Amino acid sequence: MTTETTVASALDVSALVADLRAAQPAWESLGLEGRGYWLRRYRTWLLDHADELARSLQEETGKTWVEANIEAPYVADVITYYLRRAPHLLGERRHRAHSPLTLPKRQVEVRRPFPVVGNITPWNFPLALSLIDVVPALIAGSAAVVKPSELTPNTVRTAIDGWAAIGAPPVLACVSGAGESGAAVVDEVDFVQFTGSTRTGRAIAQRAGERLVPYSLELGGKDPLIVLADADIERAANAAVWGAFCNAGQMCTSVERVYVEAAAYDDFLTRVVAKTRALRVGTPGPDFNLDVGPLVSDAQVEIVSRHIADAVDKGARVLVGGSISGKLVQPTVLADVDHTMNCMREETFGPTMPIMKVDDLAHAVALANDSEYGLSASVFTRDARRAREVASRLEAGAVNVNDVFANLFTATLPMSGWKKSGIGARMGDHGLLKYTRSQAVVTPRITPRRELQWYPYSRLRSGLMLRALRWAAGGLPGDR
Ligand code: NAD
Repeated sequence: MTTETTVASALDVSALVADLRAAQPAWESLGLEGRGYWLRRYRTWLLDHADELARSLQEETGKTWVEANIEAPYVADVITYYLRRAPHLLGERRHRAHSPLTLPKRQVEVRRPFPVVGNITPWNFPLALSLIDVVPALIAGSAAVVKPSELTPNTVRTAIDGWAAIGAPPVLACVSGAGESGAAVVDEVDFVQFTGSTRTGRAIAQRAGERLVPYSLELGGKDPLIVLADADIERAANAAVWGAFCNAGQMCTSVERVYVEAAAYDDFLTRVVAKTRALRVGTPGPDFNLDVGPLVSDAQVEIVSRHIADAVDKGARVLVGGSISGKLVQPTVLADVDHTMNCMREETFGPTMPIMKVDDLAHAVALANDSEYGLSASVFTRDARRAREVASRLEAGAVNVNDVFANLFTATLPMSGWKKSGIGARMGDHGLLKYTRSQAVVTPRITPRRELQWYPYSRLRSGLMLRALRWAAGGLPGDR
């Protein structure tokens, strides 16, 4: 991982967005079919270059080979999904008159894109998070600029160069640099898409609010996993270990807190400890021989080490892991934790799994909701009715039943953080529609010289119009 030092000045960003703005109308007028042609070609390019992109991702982030290889096909899948879905969402909608008085008007709703979308992204899934939100924007007819994390700029730049390499219209660009460049993007674009920390999300929302441009924020999380006593404990333990340590715990939807009903607690702990001990930790190469790689930066290591030390100081036990060497943090299971500890309240974003014993379902739900975050959650039980009951009581944008972050791979469903985990949503219908504005187009079916409500006002014409309005507003006989 190298920190990018080139910073795009506000002037650079302004000129680049002006170029995108100039190219966007031609892109929009290509229509869905014309834009689809380029998106299909780009999908082929991504899959043809998946190996090269995976190597670059691994070099920048230290990801395991499996995790580095997921990102390009994941983006390709999102292209396929939205190309299939877009005709249903973007087509003109003819509306029927809601009242007899509007019968003489043809009413059409058209979806028009925001001209330029800015997408500011983090380092943990650099390629996927830079492109999955840009794909629907391009399909909608917007131009887009991506500002990748300064920690991981190279793979994203290579992927965006790929757009130019296939000869596609110049409606996708990349900006270098850190927060300053991100802020310059927010100052220029017509819609801001952001994935990153809650702290930065708040700063972006404030600036976008001043400019009165819309935004969508995908922010931090502190996802709980609840294990009820009747669960398949083996599956729950496997899921918890993968959910907590995948990508070295550097996932917004990582399992960051586990609540286990007392009757299943000891069994769950024994299994989780054995499975965690068996994980192969090291610095990965292009091979499938390791399960957990290093953290991306010293700053991340510092947070994890602080959370473990704070938990131990306050009485937690380290059942496995706990040691740190450079950026390699051994996957760490903490027991006897409680909500006074930072590891249960702040986002850790590292390979820790704090586990707490709970009395019952109500206790688990109360603790799971005792967080400023509400990204996603998991519940393990063999009772489908209880699972739905837990889901209906959890304050989270997604609930995975007997699973962990399975919703990330369901393109049809919205991914939306509740509370301080976000505003708006990606994926699903909203993930495309948010880049568009509704335009109402009204055309009279008959064109007399003047309408009843136009000038001049008179007792006869205006009185007639107001009587008709009152009659229609009262509803037809069936409505009364
Ligand atoms: P970060 O907020 O530090 O940075 C994210 C991006 O914002 C970077 O590109 C950065 O340069 C830019 N930035 C920083 N200050 C800015 C400003 N004032 N104006 C505009 N842009 C600015 O986050 P990070 O450390 O890169 O990523 C980790 C965070 O991302 C975690 O909190 C994690 O939970 C979150 N995340 C959320 C999701 C999700 O889908 N909800 C997914 C992945 C990561």
